[in-house]
Amino acid sequence: MSELLDAGPGTGFAETDEYLAALRERLTVPRDTDYLLLADGLPDEAADARARMRAFVDAKVLPVINGYWERAEFPWEILPDLAATGLVGGVIRGHGAAGLSRLAAGLTTAELARGDGSVNTFLGVQANLTMGTISLLGSDEQKDRWLPGMVRLERIGAFALTEPRHGSDSAQLETTARRDGDSWIINGAKRWIGNGSMAHLVVIWARDEADGEVKAFVMEREDPRNPESMPEGFAARTIDGKVGKRAILQADLAFENLRVPEENRLPHANSFRDTSRVLATTRGGASWEALGHGIACFEAAVAYTEVREQFGHPIANYQLVQATLASMLSELTAMQLLCFRMAELQEAGTWSGTMASIAKMHTSNKARAIAQQARDLLGGNGLLLDFHVARHLTDMEVVHTYEGTEFIQSLLIGRKVTGRSAF
Ligand SMILES: Cc1cc2nc3c(=O)[nH]c(=O)nc-3n(C[C@H](O)[C@H](O)[C@H](O)COP(=O)(O)OP(=O)(O)OC[C@H]3O[C@@H](n4cnc5c(N)ncnc54)[C@H](O)[C@@H]3O)c2cc1C
Repeated sequence: MSELLDAGPGTGFAETDEYLAALRERLTVPRDTDYLLLADGLPDEAADARARMRAFVDAKVLPVINGYWERAEFPWEILPDLAATGLVGGVIRGHGAAGLSRLAAGLTTAELARGDGSVNTFLGVQANLTMGTISLLGSDEQKDRWLPGMVRLERIGAFALTEPRHGSDSAQLETTARRDGDSWIINGAKRWIGNGSMAHLVVIWARDEADGEVKAFVMEREDPRNPESMPEGFAARTIDGKVGKRAILQADLAFENLRVPEENRLPHANSFRDTSRVLATTRGGASWEALGHGIACFEAAVAYTEVREQFGHPIANYQLVQATLASMLSELTAMQLLCFRMAELQEAGTWSGTMASIAKMHTSNKARAIAQQARDLLGGNGLLLDFHVARHLTDMEVVHTYEGTEFIQSLLIGRKVTGRSAF
């Protein structure tokens, strides 16, 4: 018995392994999902950005990501190649940032999420939330000081808004900031902070004890991997046991009389309305992200059903399977329409918070359903990391929750429709 249990390659599993490899072979190969020809006439800049991200994903992310995901480790090794894509910083202009159009930035987000959600969330926290906040609400001097190192991914950023007691109602945050000479004293706690335990720069949202308004402070540390460089009054603890987006680490943060110099306060963050301005832009990113996860699941499902045979035929031959694939594709098509239109309205400056809520709610719901359908079509193999869909399925659970849950988006839309706040 023990001999059988210990059996390695070449001891009877060769045929099984060969068969499984054939099933897996084309799961991540791109398929046509652009049935409304939205990408026809795509500007060169957007097509080029998407191609660069796809090349990075294929060469550097897909070959290694399942291992990192399973071990719940961050893939530091890919950062130099990610920086070398020249795509870090998204729509931010200057300071070495990519300066992409909204469409190009969205397509690169979808492309990265199509490969892996953890790496996409890492880049979203780095570029959209942290660099985005500094770019929108910081002074010119602060942008010069922080953004170039962040574009090169030599300096990692985190965005600390959510608290143990305040998630959906983050506007009610309790972390405090008190002015003391030329610095501020910060007390409180944050939760779920992406990159929180490994960031050089942490944007901390705190309530000014003097005027009660929410302000933003950037805490800096030289070497996050060296415990000696931890600022006095700051502690970070990685959250273990997460079942989605396992290859990006979130952290609990604690501040006990943490001192941050006045020169690190973002001068244009003067109330929670300014926080909301940042979140209105990042919510659009979550919609492209959901689209990327949906495309990955659809591609895997089509490839798998072509190769997997049951009852003597590829399961793609069966009407119920085709109906499922057709439903997935029609939802993907609607998601793409939403995302492309979002990019147009963002460029025109007419994109509103309600639109962002509609897009986030719709794309996240649909991508979540597509991931479930794909998992179903892969049968038992849909539960295995090697077959990719399970990772996208659990990653989509995260997308469904962050950047505002489905219920919160519903309340925001409902308030606009009825004129009544039901919060
Ligand atoms: C993996 C991950 C990464 C994250 N990264 C970051 C980060 O980098 N920085 C950061 O600041 N935050 C981050 N977050 C926090 C995230 O934004 C919150 O998890 C999210 O806002 C929801 O808050 P909550 O988890 O506290 O849930 P809660 O707000 O407690 O919600 C629980 C449930 O109650 C529902 N609910 C709440 N209020 C109402 C209401 N009025 N009516 C009806 N239903 C309601 C919600 O829809 C939800 O279903 C992250 C979260 C996760 C899971």
